[in-house]
Amino acid sequence: MHDDTKCLKIKAPQGSFASLSVPVYRASTVVFGSVAAYQNRRAAMYDGYSYGLYGTPTSRALEHAIAGLEGASRALVVSSGFAAITLVTLALSKSGSRVLFPDNVYDTVRPFAENLLARYGVTPVYYDPLIGSGIAGLLGPDVSLVWLESPGSMTLEVQDMPAIAAACCAQGIRTAADNTYATALRCKPLDLGVDVSVCAVSKYVSGHSDVVMGSIALRDEALFRQLKDNARMLGQGVSADEASLVLRGLETMAVRLERIERTALSLLAMLNAHPAVREVRHPALPGNPGHAEWTRDFSGSTGLITLFLEPWTRPVLAQAVEAMDQFAIGASWGGTKSVVAVLDAPPLRTATPSPHDGPVVRLSIGLEHPDDLAHSIARGFDILTSAQASLAVAT
Ligand SMILES: *Cc1c(COP(=O)(O)O)cnc(C)c1O
Repeated sequence: MHDDTKCLKIKAPQGSFASLSVPVYRASTVVFGSVAAYQNRRAAMYDGYSYGLYGTPTSRALEHAIAGLEGASRALVVSSGFAAITLVTLALSKSGSRVLFPDNVYDTVRPFAENLLARYGVTPVYYDPLIGSGIAGLLGPDVSLVWLESPGSMTLEVQDMPAIAAACCAQGIRTAADNTYATALRCKPLDLGVDVSVCAVSKYVSGHSDVVMGSIALRDEALFRQLKDNARMLGQGVSADEASLVLRGLETMAVRLERIERTALSLLAMLNAHPAVREVRHPALPGNPGHAEWTRDFSGSTGLITLFLEPWTRPVLAQAVEAMDQFAIGASWGGTKSVVAVLDAPPLRTATPSPHDGPVVRLSIGLEHPDDLAHSIARGFDILTSAQASLAVAT
């Protein structure tokens, strides 16, 4: 054998080596033992291996773990949380049908629905997330899918998921829930009657702000195969390296969430007390919309807190947020480090009134010591307090 060829024949030594972690199996090409097995590879799409994009032992291990946590029989992982949403929506809608989204849906869904779905003859309809069993009034034979997101993006309303799922089920309409906020450790949408549970693994599951991935979990085998077929048609898949990072994140998710939840709860009183804050949103607060449903359906909360601020904070808000030295300014959340996002205007609502007219600030609590976070928030609040004082002098 020539050296050129020898360079291509590298194999791991065979032996009794075993490590505690799932190996990273990188692959585009999957190798078959015979021509017949190769020609039959399509049959391996769902459980075996046919091509790196459609699954590796690393991604299958992750899917298996996610299915187990969600109380599902099947799960598939795709390139992002948003890709999970578009895949489920495209797979379960058809030209002439309506798809219902809660008014507080993850904000990138609206451009997808209005531009892309609409172009293919699917009409998006937005509904009051607190509608409960009243959803029945919006259903009909042309509704192909109803989305839930609880708590919803930015404004954190908790939905009556069992009531919405039951109303849809009664009419044979599929439901899908975006479970990113709670993760399967805090809520199990499938147990509440929802057909498909979607999660942006990019957030708490991967947990270190360095991976983008989404998961889809469900119990219906035929629907799973339909989604997997659609994933193939859309070129969806994940790399083994990223699946491995998520598997690592999964191992510590429970302890991270415990700490994050405890810290977030410890900060609520201080946030509530400041005169610049008109309302604090967090599902554990008794005044949070859907608090009763949260108590009934969730086993706990996580680290997202939304603040509706008084409009007078606008001129000094950037300065105040920049003074919060423990909070990185950014859009995503769910990692080890605290992050703050600032909206100048309340998030867009088309089916329900905008909650407030002031700026909105969202905190994602991380693993820093709670005292350091409280101190950091106090630094921001000090700037708001002095602005309020000078405002009072001026008037
Ligand atoms: C971040 C997020 C998504 C999208 O996830 P990506 O992996 O960033 O695409 C979807 N839904 C919710 C509620 C999110 O917070």
